[in-house]
Amino acid sequence: MTEAPLQLFNSLTRKLEPFVPVHPGEARVYTCGPTVYNYPHIGNMRAYVFADVLGRTLSWKGYKLTHVINITDVGHLTDDADAGEDKMEKMAAQQAQSIWDIAEHYKQAYWADVRALNIRQPAQWTVATDYVPQMIEFAKGIADKHCYELESGLYFDVSTVADYGRLARAQTDEGANGLGARIEAVEGKRNPADFAIWRKTPAGETRQMEWDSPWGRGAPGWHLECSVMSGEVLGFPFDIHTGGIDHREIHHPNEIAQNQAHCCTNGLDDPRNSGARIWMHNNFLVERSGKMSKSSGEFLRLQLLIDRGYHPLAYRLMCLSAHYRSELEFSWEGLGAALTRLKRMVMAVEALKARHAELVSASMDDPGAERAGAWTLKQVQGDDWGKLAPAVEKFDAAIADDLNTAVALTALDDVLAAKKVDVEKKASLAQAMDFVLGLNLMGLNRADLRIRPKAATMTEEQVEAAIAFRKELRAQQNYAALDRQRDELAAQGVEVMDGDPLGWEWKLG
Ligand code: AMP
Ligand code: ZN
Repeated sequence: MTEAPLQLFNSLTRKLEPFVPVHPGEARVYTCGPTVYNYPHIGNMRAYVFADVLGRTLSWKGYKLTHVINITDVGHLTDDADAGEDKMEKMAAQQAQSIWDIAEHYKQAYWADVRALNIRQPAQWTVATDYVPQMIEFAKGIADKHCYELESGLYFDVSTVADYGRLARAQTDEGANGLGARIEAVEGKRNPADFAIWRKTPAGETRQMEWDSPWGRGAPGWHLECSVMSGEVLGFPFDIHTGGIDHREIHHPNEIAQNQAHCCTNGLDDPRNSGARIWMHNNFLVERSGKMSKSSGEFLRLQLLIDRGYHPLAYRLMCLSAHYRSELEFSWEGLGAALTRLKRMVMAVEALKARHAELVSASMDDPGAERAGAWTLKQVQGDDWGKLAPAVEKFDAAIADDLNTAVALTALDDVLAAKKVDVEKKASLAQAMDFVLGLNLMGLNRADLRIRPKAATMTEEQVEAAIAFRKELRAQQNYAALDRQRDELAAQGVEVMDGDPLGWEWKLG
């Protein structure tokens, strides 16, 4: 079979570009991680599902992956630019807890969502407060030529680097300054888009998190953190930097400006100067009512989906059904459709497993073990797939085409639906494709997908007993009693699905 070359969309050049690794055979990826001041919403988690699929695709293509995701526990203000309060400090004050406790609690909650969505563990989680000395060193290195001090902190002068804000402008085609207009003025700033790389603690105050620096006691700016952690761990230039599309506006242009200053201040036409060769951004998950928010409307956490009876991997499948660069609208109906699709896949794999006992099941709780079992295209290429060969090619071409997961899923469907093919081959191929998509099809079974909504009053055993009784009533052709029982069950939140083609018979609705 022919291998499709991996092409990725670079937000900086606004073009699909072939992936050419900086270090032959390796792929180094940095993902802007969460600010751990609150639970992530499912929109945030879309960003990590996307980064995970990217990492899995790089593994599939045979690259040795080093993925780093940061945890921001200091410095992110309520506005992405320089306005507002530190998000962490604000939450700590609201909850009357220490910032360290807040950070620990929400980091653990984030990691629980990461596991539930079968996102692989990165090679390293970098925690911002572990890198403050390195941040100070980095700032010292660029301060003379690129920064100036004001009462509130050390500011980066964006006019000192070539082509500041190209990433933001590249998206809109509006000439230069849409960016500065959105940024609140700080007295003394030379350019509206200048930003604090070190925020001084105001005289007479103390912060829960503060460090000494040549510019006084204070805390690092959020943009500085990502420049430093990515460069420290992956080395400049590394291959790919990811984040959500909101980061194209302020956070990533500012990281790029710092990286330019740190390395050489040359123009952005040389991709080495931005720190990463490719900048990739996932589009937003939106609600019909508007932007997803943690503070207004329904706070869509992964746990809320689970409480309502949806398996978290149904949400992952929902994400994969859309291209990562397209906006995705969340709806409960859409999630329901994804769950049904997941059920069909799990049932098809169960049928395969029944026929092919040696299928290994990837454990959700042991991502290390899963990584050891990573599938690469090379492994798959060697075999003669017979009738399944077109599906392999379709899958590889789709995923190599800027991660077209929607089409890759249909290639997996083709494999699962194939008739009169070698079971072992079918099973290995399904497993290989699922390695890239990460739906844990080998580890899931039907019962896992039937989650009891929190509000349901009946236990699973009670429902099963009622369904068994239902079969008796049907055998007796007692339709009046069947109808009555259906209503009684509905009143307790159980919807019976007589003759359900998926054979589920009931769901907790
Ligand atoms: P934050 O914790 O606010 O820094 O956000 C974590 C990640 O989620 C960032 O990469 C954001 O760009 C991304 N993000 C925020 N809101 C959404 C959304 N509604 N859909 C997809 N990604 C989002
Ligand atoms: Zn970042």
